[in-house]
Amino acid sequence: MKRRSFLKTAGAAGVMAGAIPAWSVPQDANHQASTSKASTTSSPENILLKDYRPKSIYKIPITEVPKAKFPAIDMHSHPYAKTSQEIAEWVRNMDEVGIEKTIILAMATGENFSEIYRKYSAHPDRFEIWCGFDYRGYDQPGFDSRAVKALEQCHDIGARGVGELHDKGKGLTSSTVQALGMHPDDARMDPLFERCGQLGMPVNIHVADPIWMYQPMDNTNDGLMNAYDWRLDNQPGIVKLSGMVDILERTVQKHRNTTFIACHFANLDYDLGRLGQVLDAHPNLHADIAARYAETAPIPRFAAKFYEKYGDRLVYGTDMGFDKPMYRITFRVLETQDEHFYETEQFGYHWSLNGFGLSDETLRKVYRDNAARLLASLRT
Ligand SMILES: [Zn+2]
Repeated sequence: MKRRSFLKTAGAAGVMAGAIPAWSVPQDANHQASTSKASTTSSPENILLKDYRPKSIYKIPITEVPKAKFPAIDMHSHPYAKTSQEIAEWVRNMDEVGIEKTIILAMATGENFSEIYRKYSAHPDRFEIWCGFDYRGYDQPGFDSRAVKALEQCHDIGARGVGELHDKGKGLTSSTVQALGMHPDDARMDPLFERCGQLGMPVNIHVADPIWMYQPMDNTNDGLMNAYDWRLDNQPGIVKLSGMVDILERTVQKHRNTTFIACHFANLDYDLGRLGQVLDAHPNLHADIAARYAETAPIPRFAAKFYEKYGDRLVYGTDMGFDKPMYRITFRVLETQDEHFYETEQFGYHWSLNGFGLSDETLRKVYRDNAARLLASLRT
Protein backbone atom coordinates (compact mmCIF):
# COMPACT_ATOMS: atom_id res chain seq x y z
CA MET A 1 0.00 0.00 0.00
CA LYS A 2 1.16 3.48 -0.71
CA ARG A 3 2.34 6.02 1.77
CA ARG A 4 0.29 9.04 0.76
CA SER A 5 -3.08 7.46 1.46
CA PHE A 6 -1.73 6.40 4.79
CA LEU A 7 -0.52 9.87 5.65
CA LYS A 8 -3.84 11.37 4.68
CA THR A 9 -5.70 9.11 7.05
CA ALA A 10 -3.15 9.01 9.83
CA GLY A 11 -3.56 11.50 12.61
CA ALA A 12 -0.39 13.42 12.05
CA ALA A 13 1.56 13.71 15.24
CA GLY A 14 3.69 16.79 14.86
CA VAL A 15 7.41 16.35 14.58
CA MET A 16 9.48 19.43 15.39
CA ALA A 17 12.30 20.45 13.13
CA GLY A 18 14.41 21.14 16.20
CA ALA A 19 15.66 18.80 18.86
CA ILE A 20 12.43 18.55 20.82
CA PRO A 21 10.07 15.97 19.42
CA ALA A 22 6.51 17.21 19.27
CA TRP A 23 5.13 14.17 21.03
CA SER A 24 6.81 15.51 24.14
CA VAL A 25 5.18 18.91 23.64
CA PRO A 26 1.95 19.60 25.53
CA GLN A 27 -1.19 19.00 23.46
CA ASP A 28 -2.11 22.70 23.36
CA ALA A 29 1.25 23.81 22.08
CA ASN A 30 1.19 21.09 19.44
CA HIS A 31 -2.29 22.06 18.34
CA GLN A 32 -1.46 25.73 18.22
CA ALA A 33 1.66 25.14 16.16
CA SER A 34 -0.11 23.10 13.53
CA THR A 35 -3.12 25.41 13.22
CA SER A 36 -1.45 28.79 13.35
CA LYS A 37 -0.27 29.76 9.88
CA ALA A 38 1.92 32.57 11.14
CA SER A 39 3.81 30.39 13.55
CA THR A 40 4.49 27.68 10.99
CA THR A 41 5.75 30.08 8.38
CA SER A 42 7.53 32.75 10.34
CA SER A 43 9.49 31.09 13.09
CA PRO A 44 11.84 28.15 12.64
CA GLU A 45 11.34 27.44 16.35
CA ASN A 46 7.77 26.45 15.60
CA ILE A 47 8.01 24.81 12.19
CA LEU A 48 6.86 21.23 12.39
CA LEU A 49 8.89 18.75 10.40
CA LYS A 50 5.66 17.38 8.95
CA ASP A 51 4.93 20.84 7.53
CA TYR A 52 8.38 21.39 6.06
CA ARG A 53 8.05 22.15 2.35
CA PRO A 54 11.42 23.30 1.06
CA LYS A 55 11.76 24.66 -2.47
CA SER A 56 14.91 23.99 -4.44
CA ILE A 57 17.17 27.02 -4.74
CA TYR A 58 19.03 25.71 -7.78
CA LYS A 59 18.80 27.17 -11.26
CA ILE A 60 19.20 23.87 -13.08
CA PRO A 61 17.28 22.09 -15.84
CA ILE A 62 13.83 20.72 -15.09
CA THR A 63 12.79 17.94 -17.42
CA GLU A 64 9.12 17.34 -18.08
CA VAL A 65 8.32 13.77 -19.05
CA PRO A 66 4.68 13.77 -20.15
CA LYS A 67 4.84 10.21 -21.47
CA ALA A 68 6.98 7.19 -20.65
CA LYS A 69 9.79 6.79 -23.17
CA PHE A 70 8.63 3.23 -23.94
CA PRO A 71 5.26 1.52 -23.42
CA ALA A 72 4.91 0.55 -19.77
CA ILE A 73 3.03 -2.05 -17.77
CA ASP A 74 2.10 -0.93 -14.27
CA MET A 75 2.48 -4.08 -12.19
CA HIS A 76 1.31 -2.59 -8.93
CA SER A 77 -1.97 -0.78 -8.61
CA HIS A 78 -5.25 -1.23 -6.76
CA PRO A 79 -8.95 -0.73 -7.59
CA TYR A 80 -8.78 3.02 -6.97
CA ALA A 81 -11.41 3.81 -9.62
CA LYS A 82 -14.85 2.91 -8.30
CA THR A 83 -17.23 3.83 -11.13
CA SER A 84 -17.23 3.12 -14.86
CA GLN A 85 -16.63 6.85 -15.46
CA GLU A 86 -13.58 6.83 -13.21
CA ILE A 87 -12.30 3.68 -14.88
CA ALA A 88 -12.73 5.32 -18.30
CA GLU A 89 -10.81 8.36 -17.02
CA TRP A 90 -8.05 6.04 -15.81
CA VAL A 91 -7.80 4.49 -19.30
CA ARG A 92 -7.54 7.96 -20.85
CA ASN A 93 -4.77 8.85 -18.42
CA MET A 94 -2.98 5.60 -19.24
CA ASP A 95 -3.21 6.44 -22.97
CA GLU A 96 -1.80 9.91 -22.41
CA VAL A 97 1.14 8.87 -20.26
CA GLY A 98 1.97 5.63 -22.07
CA ILE A 99 0.72 2.90 -19.76
CA GLU A 100 -0.32 -0.06 -21.88
CA LYS A 101 -1.73 -2.20 -19.08
CA THR A 102 -2.33 -1.95 -15.33
CA ILE A 103 -2.35 -4.82 -12.89
CA ILE A 104 -5.04 -4.29 -10.27
CA LEU A 105 -4.03 -6.06 -7.08
CA ALA A 106 -7.53 -6.60 -5.76
CA MET A 107 -6.47 -8.39 -2.56
CA ALA A 108 -9.92 -10.00 -2.52
CA THR A 109 -11.60 -13.36 -3.00
CA GLY A 110 -15.19 -14.56 -3.46
CA GLU A 111 -17.90 -12.04 -4.20
CA ASN A 112 -15.61 -9.09 -3.46
CA PHE A 113 -13.22 -10.27 -6.14
CA SER A 114 -16.05 -10.90 -8.64
CA GLU A 115 -17.40 -7.41 -8.12
CA ILE A 116 -14.03 -5.75 -8.78
CA TYR A 117 -13.46 -8.03 -11.76
CA ARG A 118 -16.85 -7.09 -13.25
CA LYS A 119 -16.21 -3.37 -12.83
CA TYR A 120 -13.01 -3.48 -14.83
CA SER A 121 -14.19 -6.02 -17.39
CA ALA A 122 -15.10 -3.34 -19.95
CA HIS A 123 -11.36 -2.92 -20.61
CA PRO A 124 -9.97 -6.45 -20.68
CA ASP A 125 -6.80 -5.47 -22.55
CA ARG A 126 -5.98 -2.58 -20.23
CA PHE A 127 -6.50 -4.09 -16.79
CA GLU A 128 -5.63 -7.45 -15.31
CA ILE A 129 -7.23 -8.22 -11.96
CA TRP A 130 -5.34 -10.31 -9.44
CA CYS A 131 -7.00 -11.90 -6.41
CA GLY A 132 -5.98 -12.35 -2.79
CA PHE A 133 -5.94 -15.34 -0.49
CA ASP A 134 -8.76 -16.22 1.89
CA TYR A 135 -7.18 -16.62 5.34
CA ARG A 136 -10.42 -17.36 7.16
CA GLY A 137 -10.02 -20.31 9.48
CA TYR A 138 -6.24 -20.21 9.13
CA ASP A 139 -5.95 -21.75 12.60
CA GLN A 140 -8.49 -24.50 11.96
CA PRO A 141 -8.25 -27.88 10.22
CA GLY A 142 -9.00 -27.89 6.50
CA PHE A 143 -7.81 -24.30 6.03
CA ASP A 144 -5.50 -25.09 3.14
CA SER A 145 -8.02 -26.97 1.02
CA ARG A 146 -10.67 -24.28 1.56
CA ALA A 147 -8.21 -21.53 0.72
CA VAL A 148 -7.04 -23.36 -2.43
CA LYS A 149 -10.66 -23.71 -3.50
CA ALA A 150 -11.21 -19.96 -3.05
CA LEU A 151 -8.10 -19.35 -5.17
CA GLU A 152 -9.33 -21.70 -7.91
CA GLN A 153 -12.69 -19.95 -7.97
CA CYS A 154 -10.95 -16.61 -8.55
CA HIS A 155 -8.86 -18.19 -11.29
CA ASP A 156 -12.01 -19.52 -12.94
CA ILE A 157 -13.44 -16.00 -12.93
CA GLY A 158 -10.32 -14.58 -14.52
CA ALA A 159 -7.63 -13.88 -11.90
CA ARG A 160 -4.21 -14.38 -13.49
CA GLY A 161 -2.09 -13.60 -10.48
CA VAL A 162 -2.27 -13.09 -6.72
CA GLY A 163 -1.59 -9.99 -4.67
CA GLU A 164 -0.84 -7.94 -2.91
CA LEU A 165 -0.16 -10.29 0.00
CA HIS A 166 0.96 -8.52 3.16
CA ASP A 167 3.10 -9.59 6.05
CA LYS A 168 4.58 -6.69 7.95
CA GLY A 169 5.98 -8.95 10.65
CA LYS A 170 3.05 -10.30 12.61
CA GLY A 171 1.69 -12.72 10.05
CA LEU A 172 -0.20 -12.58 6.78
CA THR A 173 -3.08 -10.13 6.76
CA SER A 174 -5.95 -9.30 4.45
CA SER A 175 -8.54 -6.58 4.87
CA THR A 176 -10.66 -8.92 6.96
CA VAL A 177 -8.32 -11.48 8.57
CA GLN A 178 -5.11 -11.15 10.48
CA ALA A 179 -3.48 -14.57 10.47
CA LEU A 180 -1.33 -13.90 13.52
CA GLY A 181 1.94 -15.80 13.43
CA MET A 182 1.28 -17.42 10.05
CA HIS A 183 4.09 -16.17 7.83
CA PRO A 184 4.48 -17.02 4.13
CA ASP A 185 6.97 -19.83 4.85
CA ASP A 186 4.43 -21.56 7.12
CA ALA A 187 3.57 -25.12 6.02
CA ARG A 188 -0.10 -24.11 5.94
CA MET A 189 0.70 -21.83 3.01
CA ASP A 190 2.46 -24.48 0.94
CA PRO A 191 -0.57 -25.79 -0.98
CA LEU A 192 -1.60 -22.24 -1.89
CA PHE A 193 1.76 -21.20 -3.30
CA GLU A 194 2.16 -24.55 -5.06
CA ARG A 195 -1.25 -24.13 -6.69
CA CYS A 196 -0.28 -20.64 -7.86
CA GLY A 197 2.70 -22.21 -9.60
CA GLN A 198 0.55 -24.86 -11.26
CA LEU A 199 -1.96 -22.26 -12.42
CA GLY A 200 0.77 -19.93 -13.71
CA MET A 201 -0.29 -17.18 -11.30
CA PRO A 202 2.57 -14.92 -10.15
CA VAL A 203 2.36 -13.79 -6.52
CA ASN A 204 2.96 -10.17 -5.52
CA ILE A 205 4.06 -10.10 -1.89
CA HIS A 206 4.77 -7.25 0.50
CA VAL A 207 7.12 -8.07 3.36
CA ALA A 208 8.11 -5.71 6.17
CA ASP A 209 8.13 -1.92 5.75
CA PRO A 210 10.79 0.77 5.40
CA ILE A 211 13.72 0.40 7.77
CA TRP A 212 13.26 3.72 9.56
CA MET A 213 9.94 2.54 10.99
CA TYR A 214 11.80 0.01 13.10
CA GLN A 215 14.46 2.44 14.33
CA PRO A 216 14.29 4.68 17.40
CA MET A 217 12.01 7.67 16.87
CA ASP A 218 14.64 10.21 17.74
CA ASN A 219 16.60 12.96 16.05
CA THR A 220 18.83 10.44 14.27
CA ASN A 221 16.00 8.70 12.42
CA ASP A 222 16.53 9.39 8.71
CA GLY A 223 12.87 8.86 7.88
CA LEU A 224 11.42 10.48 10.98
CA MET A 225 9.09 12.75 9.05
CA ASN A 226 7.22 9.70 7.81
CA ALA A 227 8.24 7.07 10.31
CA TYR A 228 6.47 8.45 13.32
CA ASP A 229 3.06 8.26 11.68
CA TRP A 230 3.65 4.73 10.48
CA ARG A 231 5.92 3.27 13.11
CA LEU A 232 6.75 -0.34 13.87
CA ASP A 233 9.42 0.23 16.52
CA ASN A 234 6.78 0.03 19.23
CA GLN A 235 5.27 -3.35 18.34
CA PRO A 236 6.46 -6.13 20.61
CA GLY A 237 6.96 -9.55 19.08
CA ILE A 238 7.09 -8.29 15.50
CA VAL A 239 9.49 -10.01 13.11
CA LYS A 240 11.76 -7.21 11.97
CA LEU A 241 12.73 -6.33 8.43
CA SER A 242 15.76 -8.61 8.18
CA GLY A 243 13.80 -11.54 9.59
CA MET A 244 11.01 -10.91 7.10
CA VAL A 245 13.48 -10.97 4.22
CA ASP A 246 14.71 -14.35 5.55
CA ILE A 247 11.09 -15.54 5.54
CA LEU A 248 10.66 -14.29 1.98
CA GLU A 249 13.77 -16.18 0.92
CA ARG A 250 12.61 -19.42 2.55
CA THR A 251 9.24 -19.03 0.84
CA VAL A 252 10.55 -18.52 -2.68
CA GLN A 253 13.11 -21.28 -2.11
CA LYS A 254 10.36 -23.71 -1.13
CA HIS A 255 8.23 -22.95 -4.18
CA ARG A 256 10.62 -22.93 -7.09
CA ASN A 257 7.85 -23.34 -9.66
CA THR A 258 6.00 -20.28 -8.47
CA THR A 259 6.96 -16.78 -9.57
CA PHE A 260 7.12 -14.20 -6.80
CA ILE A 261 7.28 -10.43 -7.10
CA ALA A 262 8.50 -8.78 -3.91
CA CYS A 263 6.90 -5.38 -4.03
CA HIS A 264 8.61 -2.14 -3.01
CA PHE A 265 12.07 -3.72 -3.55
CA ALA A 266 11.18 -6.08 -0.65
CA ASN A 267 11.70 -2.93 1.44
CA LEU A 268 15.42 -3.35 0.81
CA ASP A 269 15.59 -0.04 -1.06
CA TYR A 270 17.97 1.07 1.73
CA ASP A 271 20.20 -1.98 1.21
CA LEU A 272 20.18 -2.75 -2.49
CA GLY A 273 23.33 -4.85 -2.04
CA ARG A 274 21.36 -7.34 -0.01
CA LEU A 275 18.47 -7.24 -2.46
CA GLY A 276 20.96 -8.13 -5.19
CA GLN A 277 22.11 -11.15 -3.19
CA VAL A 278 18.50 -12.24 -2.65
CA LEU A 279 17.74 -11.91 -6.37
CA ASP A 280 20.93 -13.78 -7.26
CA ALA A 281 19.91 -16.66 -5.01
CA HIS A 282 16.34 -16.99 -6.24
CA PRO A 283 15.66 -17.04 -9.98
CA ASN A 284 11.90 -17.23 -9.37
CA LEU A 285 11.91 -13.88 -7.57
CA HIS A 286 11.42 -10.42 -9.07
CA ALA A 287 10.95 -7.08 -7.35
CA ASP A 288 8.61 -4.23 -8.14
CA ILE A 289 9.68 -0.62 -7.71
CA ALA A 290 6.27 0.73 -6.70
CA ALA A 291 5.98 3.50 -4.11
CA ARG A 292 9.71 3.60 -3.42
CA TYR A 293 10.65 6.45 -5.75
CA ALA A 294 11.16 8.94 -2.93
CA GLU A 295 13.29 6.37 -1.10
CA THR A 296 15.63 5.55 -4.00
CA ALA A 297 15.87 8.96 -5.71
CA PRO A 298 18.15 10.35 -2.98
CA ILE A 299 20.86 7.83 -4.05
CA PRO A 300 20.65 8.12 -7.83
CA ARG A 301 24.10 6.83 -8.78
CA PHE A 302 23.94 3.73 -6.60
CA ALA A 303 20.32 3.10 -7.52
CA ALA A 304 21.01 3.50 -11.25
CA LYS A 305 23.87 0.99 -11.05
CA PHE A 306 21.52 -1.44 -9.34
CA TYR A 307 18.89 -0.96 -12.05
CA GLU A 308 21.45 -1.52 -14.78
CA LYS A 309 22.73 -4.70 -13.13
CA TYR A 310 19.37 -6.17 -12.17
CA GLY A 311 17.39 -4.75 -15.07
CA ASP A 312 16.02 -8.21 -15.87
CA ARG A 313 14.51 -8.64 -12.42
CA LEU A 314 12.73 -5.35 -11.72
CA VAL A 315 9.25 -4.42 -12.85
CA TYR A 316 7.62 -1.00 -13.03
CA GLY A 317 4.78 -0.24 -10.62
CA THR A 318 3.13 2.80 -9.05
CA ASP A 319 0.72 2.02 -6.15
CA MET A 320 -0.21 5.70 -5.91
CA GLY A 321 -3.59 6.31 -7.56
CA PHE A 322 -4.08 7.09 -11.24
CA ASP A 323 -3.61 10.77 -11.88
CA LYS A 324 -1.26 11.90 -14.63
CA PRO A 325 1.19 13.91 -12.48
CA MET A 326 1.79 10.79 -10.38
CA TYR A 327 2.88 8.75 -13.42
CA ARG A 328 5.03 11.62 -14.69
CA ILE A 329 6.97 11.83 -11.43
CA THR A 330 7.91 8.17 -11.75
CA PHE A 331 9.11 8.74 -15.34
CA ARG A 332 11.13 11.77 -14.23
CA VAL A 333 12.90 9.73 -11.57
CA LEU A 334 13.65 6.81 -13.90
CA GLU A 335 14.50 8.63 -17.11
CA THR A 336 16.04 12.03 -16.39
CA GLN A 337 19.25 13.30 -14.85
CA ASP A 338 17.43 16.06 -12.97
CA GLU A 339 18.82 16.82 -9.54
CA HIS A 340 17.55 17.96 -6.16
CA PHE A 341 13.84 18.29 -6.82
CA TYR A 342 10.95 17.89 -4.43
CA GLU A 343 7.64 16.17 -4.98
CA THR A 344 5.97 16.97 -1.71
CA GLU A 345 2.50 16.84 -3.20
CA GLN A 346 3.02 13.19 -4.02
CA PHE A 347 5.29 11.97 -1.27
CA GLY A 348 5.04 14.55 1.50
CA TYR A 349 8.40 15.93 2.51
CA HIS A 350 10.91 13.17 2.63
CA TRP A 351 14.20 13.94 0.96
CA SER A 352 15.07 15.76 -2.22
CA LEU A 353 14.96 13.60 -5.33
CA ASN A 354 17.30 12.97 -8.28
CA GLY A 355 16.78 11.23 -11.59
CA PHE A 356 18.52 7.95 -12.45
CA GLY A 357 18.97 8.59 -16.18
CA LEU A 358 18.53 4.89 -16.98
CA SER A 359 19.63 3.48 -20.32
CA ASP A 360 17.06 2.71 -22.99
CA GLU A 361 17.81 -0.97 -22.67
CA THR A 362 17.06 -1.00 -18.94
CA LEU A 363 14.01 1.22 -19.31
CA ARG A 364 12.54 -1.16 -21.89
CA LYS A 365 13.01 -4.12 -19.57
CA VAL A 366 11.72 -2.47 -16.42
CA TYR A 367 8.79 -0.70 -18.10
CA ARG A 368 7.52 -3.65 -20.07
CA ASP A 369 9.65 -6.58 -21.17
CA ASN A 370 10.07 -8.24 -17.76
CA ALA A 371 6.38 -7.84 -16.98
CA ALA A 372 5.43 -9.28 -20.36
CA ARG A 373 7.38 -12.45 -19.49
CA LEU A 374 5.48 -12.77 -16.19
CA LEU A 375 1.95 -12.09 -17.40
CA ALA A 376 -0.09 -15.00 -18.71
CA SER A 377 -1.90 -12.69 -21.14
CA LEU A 378 1.35 -11.57 -22.81
CA ARG A 379 3.50 -14.66 -22.40
CA THR A 380 4.44 -16.16 -25.73
ZN1 LIG B 1 0.15 -1.80 -3.02
